[in-house]
Amino acid sequence: MSSALEEVLLAGSTIPWGRLGARALCDACLGRLLGKAGHGASNPERGRALRARFGIPAGRACWLCGGLLDEIEKFADLAAGKLEPWEFATFLVGSKVDPEVVAREESLWAELGTGHAEAIKSELNREIGKRLEKRFQKPAEFTRPDVVAIVDTAFDSVSVTVNPLFVYGRYRKLVRGIPQTRWPCRRCQGKGCEHCGGRGKMYETSVEEIVAAPVMAQVGGSGHALHGMGREDVDALMLGPGRPFIVEIKEPARRTVDLTSVEAAVNRTRQVEVAGLRPTTGEEVVALKEDRARKVYRVLVRFPAPVEDGKLKAAVSTLVGRPIAQRTPVRVSHRRADRTRERLVTAIEVSRSEGSTVELRVTAEAGTYVKELVHGDGGRTTPSLAEALGVACEVVELDVLEIQDSG
Ligand SMILES: [Zn+2]
Ligand SMILES: [Zn+2]
Repeated sequence: MSSALEEVLLAGSTIPWGRLGARALCDACLGRLLGKAGHGASNPERGRALRARFGIPAGRACWLCGGLLDEIEKFADLAAGKLEPWEFATFLVGSKVDPEVVAREESLWAELGTGHAEAIKSELNREIGKRLEKRFQKPAEFTRPDVVAIVDTAFDSVSVTVNPLFVYGRYRKLVRGIPQTRWPCRRCQGKGCEHCGGRGKMYETSVEEIVAAPVMAQVGGSGHALHGMGREDVDALMLGPGRPFIVEIKEPARRTVDLTSVEAAVNRTRQVEVAGLRPTTGEEVVALKEDRARKVYRVLVRFPAPVEDGKLKAAVSTLVGRPIAQRTPVRVSHRRADRTRERLVTAIEVSRSEGSTVELRVTAEAGTYVKELVHGDGGRTTPSLAEALGVACEVVELDVLEIQDSG
């Protein structure tokens, strides 16, 4: 007798087995009552040892699981079949056990007072998982599996959840008029209507679609999303070293991506360029979204009449290094809550001055509404360049030159 089973029998000696009465248990269900005692033994081994020592009779059918544990091979086959079409490096098995079985198990624990019992669900997950590890020669993984097979014992069915594929990179947007993410038509919710010219979306394409297309050409997938470290306006260019982003491909059939060819395909569009592509995880999306990187902008501003250089520099200097109060701009008020928040501008350089048009290079805290900093949004942003100068300021062009992220 192994020391593991000696430990099981010792723990078993405190259990009032007589209370089982006419309820017969299979070896696995009997052993599982002490499943957390005697590390290294299997539940059927525990069960056989307990049955022999305490004279527990075997019945034809198991009162607890009704023969469920004899079906592990069948569930493993079902799960393997469902996983077969998907490419994955790691997987996880979960199960939904008939609630009546769970209720019987829990009532038995209460009656017998065992403190070492293992739940049937965890035995099923483990045993099916072991068989799949062997079949696919791939490890079960608990924290970030590529695919999850859920076995439903009541319906003899297996459903598969395929976790998304994430690719990190930086993008540059070289043309105006492209939103960062796909912008569905609000009127038809994507079905296509007169308002959107039958496209179901407000713009022909987006950074998201341009980047996702070559990835999906390789891995398939049912949809995509793009997570950016902030976003530029539709009419703004994204220049310099680019904006960090993560593209998410939902339900990819394959997970091996040739990122060099993705990069080449995106860059061929001449609308968007990507660099530094690498595989990543969903956790990095959270970090990316939370990054409060400062940004450097190029703003082309037009005045109704030329503004004197000295006056302009004096006005600009009043905007730097003090909080700018910004009420949610009119142009985004339909989709964002109306509130006032403060942002800091750390530098403004006047880099070119030509008649009534000037170019500013603005360094500002994440989330600053730069257009409004310039034109004042009818007094909703204060102070603003327009307020400081006392003249109307029109933003002709706005580009993002640099994102000063930690990465
Ligand atoms: Zn059983
Ligand atoms: Zn529409």
